[in-house]
Amino acid sequence: MPRGQAHDSYLEAAAQALQEAGLWRTLQPLAGATGPTVRVGEQELLLLCSNNYLGLATDPRVTEAAAAAARELGSGSGASRLVCGSLELHHQLEQRLAQLKGKADCVLFSSGYLANLGTIAALCGRGDTVVSDELNHASIIDGCRLSGADIAIYPHADADACAQRVARARGRVLLVTDSVFSMDGDLAPLAELCAAAARHDGWVMVDEAHATGVLGGGAGAVSALGLSAQVDAVMGTCSKALGAAGGFVAGSRAVCDYLRNRARSFVYDTAPAPPVVAAALAALDVITAEPERGEQVCRAARLLATELRALGFTVPWPAAAIVPVLVGDSAVAMRLSGFLRRAGVLAPAIRPPTVPPGTARLRLCVMATHTGEQLGRVVAAFRAARDALPELRPALR
Ligand SMILES: *Cc1c(COP(=O)(O)O)cnc(C)c1O
Repeated sequence: MPRGQAHDSYLEAAAQALQEAGLWRTLQPLAGATGPTVRVGEQELLLLCSNNYLGLATDPRVTEAAAAAARELGSGSGASRLVCGSLELHHQLEQRLAQLKGKADCVLFSSGYLANLGTIAALCGRGDTVVSDELNHASIIDGCRLSGADIAIYPHADADACAQRVARARGRVLLVTDSVFSMDGDLAPLAELCAAAARHDGWVMVDEAHATGVLGGGAGAVSALGLSAQVDAVMGTCSKALGAAGGFVAGSRAVCDYLRNRARSFVYDTAPAPPVVAAALAALDVITAEPERGEQVCRAARLLATELRALGFTVPWPAAAIVPVLVGDSAVAMRLSGFLRRAGVLAPAIRPPTVPPGTARLRLCVMATHTGEQLGRVVAAFRAARDALPELRPALR
């Protein structure tokens, strides 16, 4: 057998195993922008799975800023920030984000994934300990592994268990957590976690990917809870509520200067492209001018959760814009998702390994640009699914 064919058949067998476990994934090309509705082929679907929470990815104030930056500064930045890719625009965005987060400084990365990877691995190394919530985002997990530090995982949102791990840790201690969890939509007990770290002089890093732009008038949960001074690294992304792309870490001058020198995903990565940087800046202008957008989306999420609970679905209470509908079995989650899609609602099933085994779910994301009528149609589709799919019964309350 030719060499390439043997390699392919190895992968095909592995793919077959995933397919049989109901865990195979395929891409879904959209024919248009991720607005409150989206075109997939010939079908117009209500979009309930985008992290474009405030609808800013299609806001003309944001898209025009991106277009103007492309004309003026080009479509790409051409080099790493440390070589010749650092534009005034990058520095402006970093200043604005530092201000938003109540920190002295900020470092911009090409994505939130790279921000977590580079920051955790720069701040900790062999002989140190990262204390991490079991449901933290994959980019945090990968950052922990890359750092070479000991990894102490505590049960989800359990501040006492976290405190125990911190007390037992060796070397320098970095406590890291999502603020709003990406698949459960709940909020970490940030004040208790900060107190646990402080008792042992540990560092704290909080991932505000789903809180930035949404909670605390846009500033995020750390700021809303008055904890900015207790958190050494406030991480966020421009790719969700800000409708652009890029990740960032806000912190003291010392933290940020160190990251610019030692975070490999900053040092060896081409600077974010001018259009996305300009888009993020314009999005911050919109959020400053209209700080009520975040609260509006949270209110809509709570209303959706209430109505789905009333239908019997198991829906954890949303802290921000994420409304998880727990199903359990992956195949049943796929059938529910398929039913909704035929009813005009796009809400893919989230299956292991993205969530723990046996906790497959539909992860609904509300956008500020969804109308009440559109969310009413989502509820009606869930009601029809409940009545049409007997296999959903074990998942109902
Ligand atoms: C999306 C996400 C990231 C990664 O951000 P990107 O900008 O998409 O790379 C990091 N952490 C959490 C919690 C996220 O949900």
